Amino acid sequence: MTQTKILLWFRNDLRLHDHEPLYVAVEKAQAASGQIVPLYCFDPRQFGQTSFGFPKTGAFRTQFLLESVADLRRSLQAIGSDLVLRRGLPEAVIPTLVKQLGITAVYYHREVTAEETRVETALQHALDALNVAFTSFWGHTLFHPDDLPFEVSQLPELFTHFRKQVEQQSTVQPTLRSPDKLPSLPEIEVGLLPQMAAFGLEVPTQDDRAVLVFKGGETGGFNRVNHYIWQHDCLKVYKETRNGMLGADYSSKFSAWLALGCLSPRYIYEQIQQYEAERVRNDSTYWLVFELLWRDYFRFVCAKHGNRVFRQSGLQDLNIAWKQDWQSFDRWRKGTTGFPLIDANMQELAATGYMSNRGRQNVASFLTKNLGIDWRMGAEWFESLLVDYDVCSNWGNWNYTAGVGNDARGFRFFNTLKQSKDYDPEGAYVKHWLPYLRALPASKVHEPWTLLPIEPI
Ligand SMILES: Cc1cc2nc3c(=O)[nH]c(=O)nc-3n(C[C@H](O)[C@H](O)[C@H](O)COP(=O)(O)OP(=O)(O)OC[C@H]3O[C@@H](n4cnc5c(N)ncnc54)[C@H](O)[C@@H]3O)c2cc1C
Repeated sequence: MTQTKILLWFRNDLRLHDHEPLYVAVEKAQAASGQIVPLYCFDPRQFGQTSFGFPKTGAFRTQFLLESVADLRRSLQAIGSDLVLRRGLPEAVIPTLVKQLGITAVYYHREVTAEETRVETALQHALDALNVAFTSFWGHTLFHPDDLPFEVSQLPELFTHFRKQVEQQSTVQPTLRSPDKLPSLPEIEVGLLPQMAAFGLEVPTQDDRAVLVFKGGETGGFNRVNHYIWQHDCLKVYKETRNGMLGADYSSKFSAWLALGCLSPRYIYEQIQQYEAERVRNDSTYWLVFELLWRDYFRFVCAKHGNRVFRQSGLQDLNIAWKQDWQSFDRWRKGTTGFPLIDANMQELAATGYMSNRGRQNVASFLTKNLGIDWRMGAEWFESLLVDYDVCSNWGNWNYTAGVGNDARGFRFFNTLKQSKDYDPEGAYVKHWLPYLRALPASKVHEPWTLLPIEPI
């Protein structure tokens, strides 16, 4: 009889907890004295260029990815296994390993967007030819598609309808526990962790104005949850603070760990439930779940609508005469538009790879509604820089802000000055990022063009 040998293909799911492919593989391997081969493959296509010529995975996210992969490797080593590392196309690398090691099945978490599903299809063909099972699992959302009150193809086009139905009729499945022991690897060269230079990138310098040092990996994710929810009790005031822009704790900052799957959303959900049972249950504790539902929604939107989310006409198929005005775009991305709120946020993004949700909404609205620039240029710039880039959340939110998304509310835009005064009344945020404004009084800091010649700057 052939020995069960399961190859676990890790992708944006760099964790041991609540990992169904791993969980099922362990059960199968235990029952049949089989082997498990965990693999991470650095796909060169992810380190190429976007269609507008930006590095597809910039330095902040690459660094976070390398840290996450290293952390996963350490965790696997601690329970008797290891992480095999390769660079190349998964559809070539995996069949080679399958033949070399006599793998009987490949398990993985499926994705929903074009580049990722294209790889899955190519791999399916290659594995079919080798007669090897290729088994997919769903693991990125709080709610499993099987537990939704509708088929994904029937997903409501309005977030509110989605949320209400899900809240009333669906339940979140409990997390799956991490294994405490794994079978050792077969004889194989495990491969070295690449350095940043291997991707043509330099290690980004840590800017001491950054909201947080984002340390990649499941361990870093657990630490952040512990800090935010338990040690500093920030969850109980999340709803009041979440629109902030300055400091580590106005919002959870879970996004980067969620994007690479270092944290499972169901784990966060259970932590919130535990917090509600042990400390306090209020609007804030609910609101973090509400935001996780937005994240779910954008993933289901992409699963339903496929490539439409990447098209200029967006999910609504709207024909808008967007401009590709590089001069204005450069001012926007460098943070030199002259509008302090926009410039501070864009400079924060460039210096740290992170920007608050309030900031993202404002700069996206400014690019698309004030400047009329092709929203896909903005989406790709974010893709390049964001440490927490998530294909569905990014492109879904850009569709929404540009007014071409399914749930977009017409030509609504943010009034930059009003937003500045509402969310940064003293100008502390803009002064933090734009030192040349530091001497200005709060009354002028958001509109420095109103300074009289006699006023000092
Ligand atoms: C133009 C634009 C682009 C964006 N691109 C991304 C992206 O690439 N990756 C990403 O994770 N988020 C993206 N967002 C959503 C949101 O800005 C970030 O999730 C949030 O700022 C991350 O910080 P946080 O973890 O502290 O959020 P918190 O306020 O603490 O929220 C908790 C979690 O809820 C989820 N969440 C919150 N708001 C949203 C939202 N609007 N859409 C989807 N999920 C949400 C995130 O997973 C977040 O970690 C984008 C928003 C805009 C307007």
